Amino acid sequence: MANTDPRSKYSNADFPKQEQPIPGLQSKLNPQPDCGETSYTGHDRLLDYKMLVTGGDSAIGRAAAIAYAKEGADVAINYLPAEEEDAQQVKQVIEQAGRKAVLIPGDLRNEQFNYDLVEQAQKQLGGLDNVTIVAGHQQYRENIKGFDTASFTETFETNVYPIFWLVQKAIDYLNPGATITTTSSVQGYNPSPILHDYAATKAAIISLTKSLSEELGAQGIRVNCVAPGPFWSPLQISGGQPQEKIPHFGQKEVLGRAGQPVELAGTYVHLAAEESSYTTGQVYGVTGGTQLD
Ligand code: NAD
Ligand code: MG
Repeated sequence: MANTDPRSKYSNADFPKQEQPIPGLQSKLNPQPDCGETSYTGHDRLLDYKMLVTGGDSAIGRAAAIAYAKEGADVAINYLPAEEEDAQQVKQVIEQAGRKAVLIPGDLRNEQFNYDLVEQAQKQLGGLDNVTIVAGHQQYRENIKGFDTASFTETFETNVYPIFWLVQKAIDYLNPGATITTTSSVQGYNPSPILHDYAATKAAIISLTKSLSEELGAQGIRVNCVAPGPFWSPLQISGGQPQEKIPHFGQKEVLGRAGQPVELAGTYVHLAAEESSYTTGQVYGVTGGTQLD
């Protein structure tokens, strides 16, 4: 059977304008994103792996967590306490796939919590084979004067600092063959002026992925990054974009529509699996057409 037409695989109809406070909840998002709950089929590519996913409650992190479980992994997910409802849904899907789900809510801006998160995950899973860092903070501002120190700090504290803290603790447990996967964005290459701070964090994530891959490769640990284009998610409608951009979100991409989180799942799985054993220090774009350079 041939592939489906990527332009019409999912709707390219306008999204309804809608706004939520941060963190946005997937359960209240309209339409619901496809995170692979029924559309992803696993093939034991991560059988018995123990994996930790930050931002695993919703959208991109949820799609990674669900795909990991369907590929045979036990998965711990981190999210903010306010997202418990979304996290419970993910737990259910992971358990339906016959795998263990560990829920560890907490705020990644807290240094000590990052260490505790890794400890808890490896303890409750009985080991650690991959850390997938998806959690992120994105708040648009009209112009440079809108970026106050508090918001600038929150974006860096959420998107960049946890990479240091999580990796510093995780390497106590990761064995040769283990992997770390980070999440950047097309914004890391083509920064938008309404997202000065966010785009800068996404460029920093690319740099960290590369420098960490250089250091950790010597220990047999591979580090790679996924750079998504526009994906339908709660982040976008909770201050990530101005409301007037929501209806046409993703439509100007080459493929004419926004991505659905499940369309990233295979890339996260690939980077964690045996099949990518010669891949490290790389950034994989999944963008609907925007080129990374
Ligand atoms: P999302 O809202 O579903 O995911 C973001 C998650 O970050 C939340 O679920 C939340 O659990 C977590 N988070 C935020 N602040 C946190 C904190 N202080 N402590 C712990 N967790 C925190 O939206 P998404 O679009 O799936 O975003 C996931 C990642 O993908 C982000 O890093 C985002 O930058 C990146 N990304 C998204 C897009 C897109 O178009 N949706 C494009 C490029 C990159
Ligand atoms: Mg969420």
